[in-house]
Amino acid sequence: MKQSSELNALLRQIDHKGYPAYKQLRGEYQFPGYVLGIDHVQGDPFAAPSRVSVHVKGAQAAFPNELYRLACQKTALEDALLREMGRQLRGVSFQARGSGKSGLMSVSTPGQEVLSRSGCQLNDRTGDIVLRMEIGFPANGRSINARELEKILFDFLPKCVSHSLYYKALDAGKLKRTAELAEDQLAIRQMLSDRGLVAFVANGSVLPRESGVSSRPMKQAVPFQSPASMEVEFILPNKGALRGMGIPRGITLIVGGGYHGKSTLLKALELGVYNHIAGDGREYVITDGTAVKLRAEDGRSVKNVDISYFINNLPNGKDTVKFCTEDASGSTSQAANVIEAMEAGSQVFLIDEDTSATNFMIRDELMQRVVHRELEPITPYIERVRELYEDHGISTVLVAGSSGSYFHKADCILQMNRYVPADITDFAKEEAKAFPVLEELPAEVQPSFKRIFSQNRKLAGSDRIKMKTMGMDGISIDRETIDLRYLEQLADPEQLSMLAQIVKYAELNVLDGKKTLAQVVDILETLLTQKGFGGICGERNVTSGLAMPRRQEIFACLNRYRRL
Ligand code: ADP
Ligand code: MG
Repeated sequence: MKQSSELNALLRQIDHKGYPAYKQLRGEYQFPGYVLGIDHVQGDPFAAPSRVSVHVKGAQAAFPNELYRLACQKTALEDALLREMGRQLRGVSFQARGSGKSGLMSVSTPGQEVLSRSGCQLNDRTGDIVLRMEIGFPANGRSINARELEKILFDFLPKCVSHSLYYKALDAGKLKRTAELAEDQLAIRQMLSDRGLVAFVANGSVLPRESGVSSRPMKQAVPFQSPASMEVEFILPNKGALRGMGIPRGITLIVGGGYHGKSTLLKALELGVYNHIAGDGREYVITDGTAVKLRAEDGRSVKNVDISYFINNLPNGKDTVKFCTEDASGSTSQAANVIEAMEAGSQVFLIDEDTSATNFMIRDELMQRVVHRELEPITPYIERVRELYEDHGISTVLVAGSSGSYFHKADCILQMNRYVPADITDFAKEEAKAFPVLEELPAEVQPSFKRIFSQNRKLAGSDRIKMKTMGMDGISIDRETIDLRYLEQLADPEQLSMLAQIVKYAELNVLDGKKTLAQVVDILETLLTQKGFGGICGERNVTSGLAMPRRQEIFACLNRYRRL
């Protein structure tokens, strides 16, 4: 390990030299209170900024163990530190000057969800902290401006570190509340299943967002209020008693006029698989962690999925037991999404009619009379929704404002009325009696999940595989794009970047033509839980800009990879 004074000497030597001389700085330097790692140096002032890490020993950082006793608390603390570091850096970024990205100083900027990120990782045994950031090494034109980098590394950064990564500099009360919130959120998650619930929405929650492009809470929103019949109370370890709506297992229908808040409620449930930060409005909206939003996804690729549970006898004679297509229709894509979500172990399906294929969801009586069963390849979801629950234990929460067909099937019917839900189960069931129940046939066979993939191309060495993340739209691996636009439960582009790493790892190390897809994902998931980002990327190759995806999205991503 070199001393920071050596870095200083090096800086003086390379001042005014050509930009590539910056490469000599790579290495680790002992600063007072932390180790600075210069992990990757950018090739020129306009390229992606250099990667730098800050390593603080547990004894120095000195965060009390109560703040990260539970895994969810550790993640919440890391998230809080990253946000604080971000605030500090905003004050100094671009204060050092030069061309291109000279002077940039940044870390990941988390949104409303609390995710485990490579940007800040705390070791729960030692209390050591690693913070990963980006710095634009300053230049004038293409010649090194080492004085400016000296400002960054010896003045700005030490101040930011001591204001954000040392316990003594932070607001202890706020950190305690962060840990308490995480513990309470976990408590609700754990109590859901004991109470026979799939989701909980606390009274007073704010569900709508500020706008289509901002996920901050809407100001002056109508706060959520549970119907009396569905109200449950949780006694939380820190907050104490908390009341709100419990959505029971089984089939729940959300109806109501257009613009009354149906999709907003469903969206909150979709993201309730993650914890939210204090002040978000959805911090006590908690959904079963396996819940999957299911929608139509025209054009997706489908590989060997047994959709015969829903679709049989296609007019082109295509096999629906091992269904393959490079360009699925609305109904076949949604059928594949359902079967794959079963395979991924989801216990709760979330569906919005706005984004579903109508012919997949329902077929009304008149249509059944006119177009005979034998000529219709699709068994709509409505004929399987009860079986899914009775035989597979999978609950459905469905938004359906325009069709009453599901009234017969639902266990619980909610009406959104000016953003406030009412329990109309009894009334709706009574009204439904006057309408005939459509004939339906039980499934003859249950779907099979024995899909096996191998990687079937010559792979370059792991560091020669080119990977790219296109915002929230998708990722590309060696120029093959995986379209992830319709995975609505991905919350952050950093999750997409991590998915790219995971897919690459799976291709190189796990897919072998023998393991089923579920076994492959099990292996990946175990690695991620036991070893974190390093388990997939290699301990020394973890970079900033990665966030953990769920098991369900790992599945979904592999399912959309056309190269397998
Ligand atoms: P629906 O799916 O029933 O047609 P949406 O959920 O799309 O309705 O909501 C319609 C509009 O109402 C959206 O612009 C949304 O932001 C807003 N909205 C939803 N919930 C609330 C609320 N609790 N308070 C105020 N506005 C809301
Ligand atoms: Mg809607």
